[in-house]
Amino acid sequence: MFRMLHVGLDDTDSERGMCTTYLGAVLMQRLGGVAEVAEARLVRLNPNIKYKTRGNAAVALRLITSRPEVVKSITLRTVEELADMRSPSTAPGVVFWQGEVPESFREFYRRCLHGVVGIGEAEEVLHRHGGEYVKFKLGRGIVGALAAIGAELRERTYEYIAYRSPERWGTPRRVCTESVRRMNRLTYPLTFNNLDEEGRVLITPHTPCPVLFGIRGVSEQVVREAAGMVVALEPVVLHAVYVSNQATDAHLREVGRIAEVEPLSSVVLLGRVASEPRVIEGGHVFFRLRDEHGDEITCAAFEPTKGFRRVVRALLPGDLVRVYGGVNERMQVNLEKIEVIELITRREVNPRCGRCGRRMKSAGRGQGYRCRRCGTRAERRVSEPVERTIEERVYQVPPGAMRHLARPLVLGEPAIPESFL
Ligand code: ATP
Repeated sequence: MFRMLHVGLDDTDSERGMCTTYLGAVLMQRLGGVAEVAEARLVRLNPNIKYKTRGNAAVALRLITSRPEVVKSITLRTVEELADMRSPSTAPGVVFWQGEVPESFREFYRRCLHGVVGIGEAEEVLHRHGGEYVKFKLGRGIVGALAAIGAELRERTYEYIAYRSPERWGTPRRVCTESVRRMNRLTYPLTFNNLDEEGRVLITPHTPCPVLFGIRGVSEQVVREAAGMVVALEPVVLHAVYVSNQATDAHLREVGRIAEVEPLSSVVLLGRVASEPRVIEGGHVFFRLRDEHGDEITCAAFEPTKGFRRVVRALLPGDLVRVYGGVNERMQVNLEKIEVIELITRREVNPRCGRCGRRMKSAGRGQGYRCRRCGTRAERRVSEPVERTIEERVYQVPPGAMRHLARPLVLGEPAIPESFL
């Protein structure tokens, strides 16, 4: 009898190499004749956790098979063979589940997107439902493996991934840049994040992993066609198309007030700019955001966000904004997007000297203002129009600095925002 079997995999890679999506692709190849792949899922989880190697990805396969025991043994053998077991931080986990996905798996996925979850919590959910799992070493991978099975993917994108032959892993990737630019011209925005703002290729990673290139887009057909336009200058030995929660903003959660923000979550917050943006060494920009309850939090735009920092630097105290970003341990919001809702148009400044035109300085507390040069005096500050260099709209970090889960603005808003579902 044919049954639906879910196989979740995670934590098979290390900084030195491997990639869970590659392991998934090899597994799909090896399962030919034993199972039909109904869906291959690439699920990104909380981007702020410390355990991740790179992009906190997990993989789950939805299989239709009459031989679940054979599938399980092929899966475990493949993990044993390919996972980078020698790396101390690699702790693979595999989860098997037959039948309908229970609501508590879905809830577990949501917790893995927004918070930090323990291995014991995954085991508790699996024991409660009689789910099967195998831990290698510490087995932290069962967290991502279970979450990938539980992922809702109501909103979804696709990624076509081409893999290199093993003897080339760790060497420079060889893909024709002009073919990538052409592919982008013909398919953007149905495919996205192919190039950065300067036209540099983003589809090839810079890690020693097996991926040659990955193309992200809105449908399976689009990413397949786009991949066909890319000229690889080295052999592609394997490929896979994954359905994914990438580019859906699934990690972001609207938080009513700053006092409720939790470290290592990803939030959407409404407030007014409460301090002049400050640029520190290295080019990072910071400002304070204050909500209607008077609580404040620091927001940051780091150097890799490049031109986005110009927008942040141009903010002024009093501007009404909605910020989107990941919260670090020090409770700082690392900005992914900012919606400028209302720009102030006037502000209080020290008056100018009627004689020389220079700005007066404070003459001391309660003493009004005084021109240092001419000695002219004035009692109070004056309201002046300010020229603004930014507009009331949403700004986002450039593709090269974008989180995997961040929805590029070019995709527009979903018909029904995920947070309402
Ligand atoms: P790559 O992107 O190259 O696949 P990675 O960044 O996905 O690498 P992993 O090696 O998969 O990194 O490590 C992430 C680990 O963190 C996994 O063991 C996963 O189970 C676990 N994990 C994922 N999400 C959470 C979470 N929210 N809380 C706790 N652990 C998590």
